[in-house]
Amino acid sequence: MKTSNDNPSKILISACLLGHAVRYDGKDKLLCHPAIERWNEEGRLVTICPEMAGGMAVPRPPAEIENGASGLDVLEGRARVIEITGGDVTAQFVAGARKALAFAQDNGCRYALLIDGSPSCGSVAVYDGSFSGRKHAGNGVTAALFA
Ligand code: SF4
Repeated sequence: MKTSNDNPSKILISACLLGHAVRYDGKDKLLCHPAIERWNEEGRLVTICPEMAGGMAVPRPPAEIENGASGLDVLEGRARVIEITGGDVTAQFVAGARKALAFAQDNGCRYALLIDGSPSCGSVAVYDGSFSGRKHAGNGVTAALFA
C-alpha cells in the first residue's frame, strides 16, 4: 500500500537559502538546517529565484517596495518596486512572482520556504522603501502571490 511517505510533498525554497549566489549582492544566504538537508536528500526541494526568473541580473542594485507598502500592493498596482538607483523594476518582480508560482504548481509544491526581508520572497517583513534598513510587517511580491 502506498503511504504519504512514499510520495512526500514538494517544497519550493528560495534559491539563496539553498546556497545559490543569486542575491542582489552576488552572495547567497545559505541556511544550514538538518530538515533542509533531509528534504534535499529526499529530492523534495524545488528551487527558484523569483528575481532572476523575472529577468534581473546578478549582481543588481538593491530594491525595495516603495512607501511602506507590501507585495499585495504591488500586485494590485498600488505600489512599485524601486531600485536604490531609482529604476522601476516592478514589472520584473511581478513577472518573477508569476513564474515562481507557475513553477511551484508545475512541480506539485504544497509548501514554500521563503527567506524573509526580501521584496520578492519576504514572508513576514519587508524593508519600507527608504533604503535605511527599516522593516515593517508585510510580505514580498512572490510571497503575496503565494498567499
Ligand atoms: S528573490 Fe528570493 S531567492 Fe532570489 S535572491 Fe531574493 S530572496 Fe533569494
